[in-house]
Amino acid sequence: MTSSALRGTPLIERYREFLPMTDATPVISMGEGATPLVRLDKLSECLGLDVHVKLEGLNPTGSFKDRGMCFAMSKAVEQGATAVICASTGNTSAAAAAYAARAGLTCAVIIPGGKIALGKLAQALIYGAKVLAVDGNFDDALRIVRELSENHPIALVNSLNPFRLEGQKTAAFEVCDALGDAPDVLCIPVGNAGNISAYWMGFGEYREAGNSTRLPRMMGFQAEGSAPLVRGEVVTSPETIATAIRIGNPVRGEQAMAAMIDSGGGVDSVTDEEILAAYRMLASSEGVFCEPSSASSVAGLIKAHAAGRFTTGERVVCVLTGNGLKDPDTAIAQSGGVVEIPADYAAAEKALYGD
Ligand SMILES: *Cc1c(COP(=O)(O)O)cnc(C)c1O
Repeated sequence: MTSSALRGTPLIERYREFLPMTDATPVISMGEGATPLVRLDKLSECLGLDVHVKLEGLNPTGSFKDRGMCFAMSKAVEQGATAVICASTGNTSAAAAAYAARAGLTCAVIIPGGKIALGKLAQALIYGAKVLAVDGNFDDALRIVRELSENHPIALVNSLNPFRLEGQKTAAFEVCDALGDAPDVLCIPVGNAGNISAYWMGFGEYREAGNSTRLPRMMGFQAEGSAPLVRGEVVTSPETIATAIRIGNPVRGEQAMAAMIDSGGGVDSVTDEEILAAYRMLASSEGVFCEPSSASSVAGLIKAHAAGRFTTGERVVCVLTGNGLKDPDTAIAQSGGVVEIPADYAAAEKALYGD
């Protein structure tokens, strides 16, 4: 099956045979998925590897969350829901709010106050969600929405919801379709660990169906100040600039650890400095602008390479989970400032070429 070029075709139609669709499942879609897989020529040369990035920031709301949300929303409608709720570090709320608007459902989101990127907040609000900011972190927000969904007729669309992972596993199918087989290694940021679990499911199912022949080593990366899987314990006050993975108690932690160990990969952490260096390098050297959390996959690749974890020439796919425009504040803070000049030719020439 090689259908990843069909951008605009609903994701859950393209991979219908791999999803628990029924005749009663509506197709709620905005043309998600079919995202580009782009080779990083300079980084490949520098590391002696064949490095590609999966640009998940090109999904309709700018992150991979759309893959799972289109299916979770379709199933929620099938099951008669009229309202959905989620806790979110930002991107889940943007996706939930957008797909709920499209499906005609009301949406409530609970976010950690002051800790979500500006673009994500703007999205949740303009798509019409009811946005509650808690004086706490993601783990607090999730505890509250779980209880709300138990006490009220409102469907939970966090990655606890199995349909989210079903939708997200399609990214692994697309990687195999684009490369002709699975890569040697997949590098991916880990927050709640839903996405890495979904990719592992996807690679396994695709091989079983005869569409690929191998499984990649799964390498997951957490931010150092928010690395419960690396430390082997819950982190009560996670801190990192990578707000999308600022999670101290990952919902899919056990499942993800099994994937990383069974595949011969592993989990490691990267510092905020390493994440930001990869973030700047991707933009300024490869022309790829992702959000800081996403860059942890490339920061992790660079760290693992330095530790001798690759064989020369291996093919690596790094998942860039979200679009750089989500977080303009960090982009501006990490860049050289603007040069202000008067509105005349000489000043511009002087600023560019000197005296
Ligand atoms: C949600 C998210 C992650 C983390 O994914 P998990 O499934 O929670 O591990 C990473 N990066 C971005 C940009 C995200 O939105």
